[in-house]
Amino acid sequence: MPATQPELGTDPLPIIWKGEEEYEEARVGRVFNLRRPKRYPVGVLEARNVSDVIRGVNLARERGIQVALRSGGHSWAAWSVRPQSLLIDLGKMRELSYDPVTKIATASPAITGGELNPLLSRYGRFFAGGHCPTVGIGGFLLQGGQGWWARGLGWSAENIESIDVVLPSGELVTASEKDNADLFWAARGSGPGFFGVVVRFRLHTRPRPLDMHHVTYIMPAKENFRAVITWLQEACRGELGPKVEVVCLAFTRGRLFGETGPNELESMLVIRGTSNTDSEEEAREALAPMLKCPGAANAEVRAEIVPTSMPEEYARQLADNPPGQYFLGNSWLVGEPADIADSLELGFTTLPSRESFFLYYNMAPLRPLPDMSFTLQSEHYAAGYIISTGDDVPEQERCEQWLTDRLAYIDSKKDGSGGTIGMYLGDSDLAHRAGKIMSDEAWAKFCKIRDAYDPNHMFAGYLHGDSLLNVEAWNQPNYKPYKAPA
Ligand SMILES: Cc1cc2nc3c(=O)[nH]c(=O)nc-3n(C[C@H](O)[C@H](O)[C@H](O)COP(=O)(O)OP(=O)(O)OC[C@H]3O[C@@H](n4cnc5c(N)ncnc54)[C@H](O)[C@@H]3O)c2cc1C
Repeated sequence: MPATQPELGTDPLPIIWKGEEEYEEARVGRVFNLRRPKRYPVGVLEARNVSDVIRGVNLARERGIQVALRSGGHSWAAWSVRPQSLLIDLGKMRELSYDPVTKIATASPAITGGELNPLLSRYGRFFAGGHCPTVGIGGFLLQGGQGWWARGLGWSAENIESIDVVLPSGELVTASEKDNADLFWAARGSGPGFFGVVVRFRLHTRPRPLDMHHVTYIMPAKENFRAVITWLQEACRGELGPKVEVVCLAFTRGRLFGETGPNELESMLVIRGTSNTDSEEEAREALAPMLKCPGAANAEVRAEIVPTSMPEEYARQLADNPPGQYFLGNSWLVGEPADIADSLELGFTTLPSRESFFLYYNMAPLRPLPDMSFTLQSEHYAAGYIISTGDDVPEQERCEQWLTDRLAYIDSKKDGSGGTIGMYLGDSDLAHRAGKIMSDEAWAKFCKIRDAYDPNHMFAGYLHGDSLLNVEAWNQPNYKPYKAPA
């Protein structure tokens, strides 16, 4: 069904231009990452409705200005903040509804997972949004969306029924498997490279988990990392079923337990399995393999098959991702358990600052993907989250170099023995490290579709352009080879 074109308003557009008093707040006030970019849009349109979006796109086209977009403001590198652009901020558009007959939720892109799920839960339904409840569904879904239980439920973008999109021409269209299928294909995976404004998502929902339990162990990383990470990979390929989401994290002892002094930076492993089942009995069965985690008997924290809930998990995610200045990088890895352990060991055992953390998700057994532009995944996902709280620049640079070195070491393994096949847009900062984000075929197809819809690249696209994208990281001009620690 084609989208109904809205009547366009004639009142002044709510644009805050550079130089006006509220400009700085409009530029970055809704950006999660406190590491503020030095990029300055010409103005920020705080769109109230679809008509404002269309008028904003038309205005930008007439004046030859690029368009940048913001939904939830949670892209780590603040992709919405682009120089000389018109930033269309969708934060004031708040449509959210659920149709019990079709079981489809309709939501504006700035709606967050934490807003969507309380509504759905009243109907016994669920949508796997970002792990953190404050992530906007807009940017999250466009880049694929590694939502709750992605290992078993798949990428959240797989659950988009259709989208309404304002094209560079200013036309409003609906895209789905049936209508404008090329646009729909491109929207599910291209993330900040997408060349239209999604103003509405229609989402397939699923039954709400009736029961959630978790198993969590916390233990020193140095002594336990290799055994745990090797076991985890084997368990996920074997008896640990898809109803359990498994994450292995490294936090510092200082951050976890508030310790100061010589042990403050000691890396601690947090191994956590969270189940999504219909009953406690089923949860006990699903989580039983977690109890075989090496080192569990001597873990400093042991929580074995403990009830939890979505609100509790959301609260924990908020605590894990506190406000701060973040620097991010990630990799999809391929290799056998020992190779993966080798690639990640320093990341997990030598954190550079008290607040920083490192993450490993296992996605095995890897689910086949439907036909969409999101095409790059592997069983092993690793990401580093460098967090600084002060303005000590040399200290920040030291921490960033630490992450650069960890990723460069993974890049240096080019033969599949724990090396990378690319990165996930969601946890990337393309200004610092670009690389493969889609399969080569998908990238070629995406570029063709984008050139047809947006030949003048009116939409701001990937930070630092295309030239460094979809080539292996080590082929890039700014590539810094791995520096072994002293
Ligand atoms: C604390 C935290 C936790 C996170 N957890 C997860 C997680 O569990 N799983 C995961 O996959 N990711 C996660 N992320 C990453 C997050 O999903 C991405 O950064 C995503 O881009 C955020 O979406 P947003 O709408 O909030 O961001 P924004 O910064 O508003 O948008 C990012 C970019 O996406 C594009 N875009 C956004 N909306 C539209 C639109 N309506 N139309 C066209 N283009 C648009 C634009 O290029 C925009 O600049 C997390 C991020 C944070 C900060």
